[in-house]
Amino acid sequence: MSQEKGMTIQEAAQKALVSQNSCNLSGVVKTFAEVTSVLWEQPDCDGTDWVNEHPISILFATQVLWLTCKAIWPGDYGKAYAACEMLRDEGTPEITGRCSHCDKVIYEGDSFPQGMCVKCYVSYMDVRRY
Ligand SMILES: [Zn+2]
Repeated sequence: MSQEKGMTIQEAAQKALVSQNSCNLSGVVKTFAEVTSVLWEQPDCDGTDWVNEHPISILFATQVLWLTCKAIWPGDYGKAYAACEMLRDEGTPEITGRCSHCDKVIYEGDSFPQGMCVKCYVSYMDVRRY
């Protein structure tokens, strides 16, 4: 098993972006596995959900879904793509605090009303909308 040692989050994000133009399923899946271990090593990683729902994971999963089913991810692909571009260009932003709801880390420039993380804020807004 070859594992890329010391891949940075920037490199992982770059691989996620490049994967979006790949038509080689085995290549995409192999790299997906490699970046997943990079995600687990991140200082702000707080568990399985964080890794599973990370923008980098979403981009890879979307490409797998597209290659296998010609289907697209029903979520906000543009947001995940932009998040990967930001990670590639700037790395992990400074951690500024923790979410008042779920206690996840909040990054610089990413604080939402009532001290919530993005996810809690989005579900809070969804509850209000419906
Ligand atoms: Zn939260």
